[in-house]
Amino acid sequence: MRHVTVLGATGSIGLNTLDVIGRHPDRFDVFALTACRQVDSMLSLCQRFRPRYAVMAEPSAALELAERLPEEAGVEVLAGTEGLEAVASSPDCDTVMAAIVGAAGLAPTLAAVRSGKRVLLANKEALVMSGRLFMDAVAESGAELLPIDSEHNAIFQCLPPGQSRDLPGAGVRRILLTASGGPFRETSAEALQQVTPDQACAHPNWSMGQKISVDSATLMNKGLELIEACWLFDTRPDQVEVHVHPESIIHSMVEYVDGSVLAQLGSPDMRTPIANGLAWPERIDAGVDSLNLFDIGRFHFERPDLERFPCLRLASEAFRLGGTAPAVLNAANEEAVAAFLRGELGFTGIPAVIESVMASIATVPADEFPVIFEKDRESRARSAEQIRHHAVSVSGLG
Ligand code: NAD
Ligand code: MG
Repeated sequence: MRHVTVLGATGSIGLNTLDVIGRHPDRFDVFALTACRQVDSMLSLCQRFRPRYAVMAEPSAALELAERLPEEAGVEVLAGTEGLEAVASSPDCDTVMAAIVGAAGLAPTLAAVRSGKRVLLANKEALVMSGRLFMDAVAESGAELLPIDSEHNAIFQCLPPGQSRDLPGAGVRRILLTASGGPFRETSAEALQQVTPDQACAHPNWSMGQKISVDSATLMNKGLELIEACWLFDTRPDQVEVHVHPESIIHSMVEYVDGSVLAQLGSPDMRTPIANGLAWPERIDAGVDSLNLFDIGRFHFERPDLERFPCLRLASEAFRLGGTAPAVLNAANEEAVAAFLRGELGFTGIPAVIESVMASIATVPADEFPVIFEKDRESRARSAEQIRHHAVSVSGLG
């Protein structure tokens, strides 16, 4: 029996995780659920899954949840970062789904890593921000880090067991990282200036949280994933080639020196990589339908357009710069995306803000976590200035 903490339980990945867990009560038991401030959703999850702990990052939400939860439910409510870290590192839990969105997920995910858990990593921003330190913490604690991002889970499945951090030894020539291209794959540069948050969040293949949906539309998601792949598989960015594949059926590929290319395919449903991580190395039913290749008929591939989608270029530049540059990129992106969603910044303002913030902050070695958190703060402050500078009229933006 695995005792699971789900960080970010009310989100898209969290709910998909609980869907898979709910299909296998003989294998998984929910130790703790966490969320930011969604009390209604947390209340119903607590009633269904009966965790030992429920954590609300927002203290007022924790108070409200504690008041509304009936005592018979037997759920203890905790609050804040300390609560998140406590349930992520408790000796009574062995598996942690890291599915908080953004930099807020770093501290609790790290707490899980440091206490040697099986960590199912969806929260790519945590790894992007702190790459080397994060992977060092995994190595020191002996935590079992399994990728949940569909592309990285696909790559992991296409690599020989036990060799996911020894690509030369495994005979790997390169990784082919697939991308859907997002909702604006065929939108002209001019039209991109007018797109709305609703259009950006309407992903053609995947149903996801708002932030990652916008990241998919700007291709920043693929940039973050390029960095994520380099850290997870201990490889260089020039060995990872992004392939736009609009059908989102091939979730990524690995090419070997003998010319073999292995791919992982499946319907675009996050329950597949989630079930793979939860049960690894076994296979369990994830509730996902069989793939019907007759209906799909054809696969297409194209190169990403870095002119219309500069975020992919900015992310690979940040990784090449190293040190604190990816943390600065990530924080600027979070702030720019939030401003876009509020209607305060146009879509093409997102890369513009990130580029000017990156140019204005010196990159220093990322050899301690406090340095990373300080650069994250500095980047957010600069981003706020740049967002005001790039601000657009809100009229017409949804
Ligand atoms: P979401 O917005 O749907 O859910 C986010 C969750 O995090 C919610 O439970 C929310 O309450 C919690 N949260 C938000 N801010 C918080 C804070 N400050 N403190 C504590 N908790 C907070 O997001 P999502 O789409 O489920 O994505 C979660 C993570 O998984 C992201 O890092 C994303 O990049 C990654 N991911 C998602 C998908 C997908 O299909 N949704 C695929 C691959 C990777
Ligand atoms: Mg992905």
